[in-house]
Amino acid sequence: MQIFDTHAHLNDTKFKDDVDAVVFRAKDNGVSKIVVPGTDIHDSVAAIELAKGFPDTVYAAVGVHPHEADSFAQEKLNVLNSFLLSGDRSYIVAIGEIGMDFYRNYSSRESQHRAFRSQIELAIEHELPIIVHVRDAFDDVFDVLRDYSGDVKGVFHCFSGGVDEATEALKLGFWISFAGNVTFKKAGKILDVVMAVPDDRLLVETDAPYLTPVPFRGKRNEPSFVVYTLTKVAELRGVDVESMARITYSNAVEVFKIHDGGA
Ligand SMILES: [Zn+2]
Ligand SMILES: [Zn+2]
Repeated sequence: MQIFDTHAHLNDTKFKDDVDAVVFRAKDNGVSKIVVPGTDIHDSVAAIELAKGFPDTVYAAVGVHPHEADSFAQEKLNVLNSFLLSGDRSYIVAIGEIGMDFYRNYSSRESQHRAFRSQIELAIEHELPIIVHVRDAFDDVFDVLRDYSGDVKGVFHCFSGGVDEATEALKLGFWISFAGNVTFKKAGKILDVVMAVPDDRLLVETDAPYLTPVPFRGKRNEPSFVVYTLTKVAELRGVDVESMARITYSNAVEVFKIHDGGA
């Protein structure tokens, strides 16, 4: 069984002492591919370095998170662009994570809009998918994405909306990625979404080190734990884990345009 964790912050300081062990443990558990997103310039660089250190296993996304949008300026856009024009390009599979977060509101809405649009345009220029982070901001995110409809695709990571929001995301050509929160006792409406998304648009992720699935809640999350999310998704959809792994793996390979002849 091959599993694809589409979102793990292995560049987070919580992994600084044992990232090698974490990646080997992932592989031992069938998690053979992992996308590491950027949230700012320095950890986008760290994501690229990890991709270089674990070729064909770890892939990088580069971008500035909505939390950091106030600090986003032409200079940062230039730096991101320079990664894509360099030899590092082959390690980069997406622009992200980008989007909007009106729950925490660490940056102003205006700068979140600006950073999101600039980075979508960067993705279009380099023909890359985007990894979208959205929390309490679906209306604004959809408004922006409609302006680029047909030109950009990607992933709604750690999906937190309901069936209506999922339907809109699917209509815009996006994939939907589920994280450990689907295993929580109070998972609620997200379970309806898990059942509603068609096979060819479904992905799984850990969002490590956050959102640790049951039965490891309270511990640091890591890619090897994605199997618990996968198992829950398979259960809800009434299929076996192996087919769910195969489906989500081939979807991830498609969205991130990874050509390795694997699974
Ligand atoms: Zn996120
Ligand atoms: Zn994330």
